[in-house]
Amino acid sequence: MSAVKYVEKQLPEPGQKKRVAEGVYWLRFPLPFALDHINLWLLEDGDGWTLVDTGFGAGKTRELWQSMFDHALEGRPLRRIVVTHYHPDHIGQAVWLAQHFGAPVYMTDGEWQLTHDLFNQTDAEMDQGQRRLLLAHGVRQARAESLTQRGNLFRGAISGVPTPYQRLAAGDSLTINGRRWDIVVGNGHSPEHACLFRSEDRVLLSGDQILPSISSNISVRKDVPEADPLADFLASLRAFAQLPADTRVMPAHGRPFEGLHMRADKLIVHHEVQLTQVEDACRKAPKTATDLLPVLFRRELDDQQLFFAMGESIAHANHLLATGRVERELEGGVYRFRAFGAG
Ligand SMILES: [Zn+2]
Repeated sequence: MSAVKYVEKQLPEPGQKKRVAEGVYWLRFPLPFALDHINLWLLEDGDGWTLVDTGFGAGKTRELWQSMFDHALEGRPLRRIVVTHYHPDHIGQAVWLAQHFGAPVYMTDGEWQLTHDLFNQTDAEMDQGQRRLLLAHGVRQARAESLTQRGNLFRGAISGVPTPYQRLAAGDSLTINGRRWDIVVGNGHSPEHACLFRSEDRVLLSGDQILPSISSNISVRKDVPEADPLADFLASLRAFAQLPADTRVMPAHGRPFEGLHMRADKLIVHHEVQLTQVEDACRKAPKTATDLLPVLFRRELDDQQLFFAMGESIAHANHLLATGRVERELEGGVYRFRAFGAG
């Protein structure tokens, strides 16, 4: 009853595009992670194309793009590149593609600013910031040290900072092939995530803001340790539930689906259940965000997953703190969260 309805039976062939709506084509690119693919969207745009998201900035993405210029793109140029948000699987090849085609890059200010900031952080700034956050939330010294000797991985995962860029903002629209796409901005997964919505036939290019089978990562970032991104994300889900019920959603991961309202509701409930579980755990005894990992993740976490998991654990704890459901104590430089009421 609560499952989304997938509207495409077949995936696009590797290196091929697949038509999914009037003038909208689906490209599926590999990713070198557990999350093994990303969906990009190619929109007919006069004698060329508008591309939404660009693939990871390292690995085989560039070769795959080159193999597609004459075939999937039919030898037609990219006229515009839209980047939904700063994560490297989305913005990765934007600068390279923009230079190749002489095409402008469109993104929101919030995503551009963060891209610029992260790209320019030194290895030491990146490592020290991560270490400070992990230590404050209960990761042991030796583990925190070993996890934060990676330097600035972001810089190596994107082809550059798109400069200059064209600013997108909530309420803007783009006319692509004579059709209007509204810019709908979501928050919480990233600062100012752009989605594109075509109201005439209710097509939503949702990026990572709403996904059909996994929940988007909601992390507290090292440079804003007191933030409450889960509040932003839940508010965005409620706003997306205002779009028409029969909207076809084209997500960045997974397959196109219908059932936006149901999916938004299910994600809200998922986070509310997690918040309650975290609150209950903090009632038994004060807990660090590290202590809370097994409450939120019932599986082994490798080093990469631990970063995302810690970000997510702190996000849930910070949200409970911001909404007055837990209090926080600092002892020996480590935060512990304590829920009210009897254990
Ligand atoms: Zn993302």
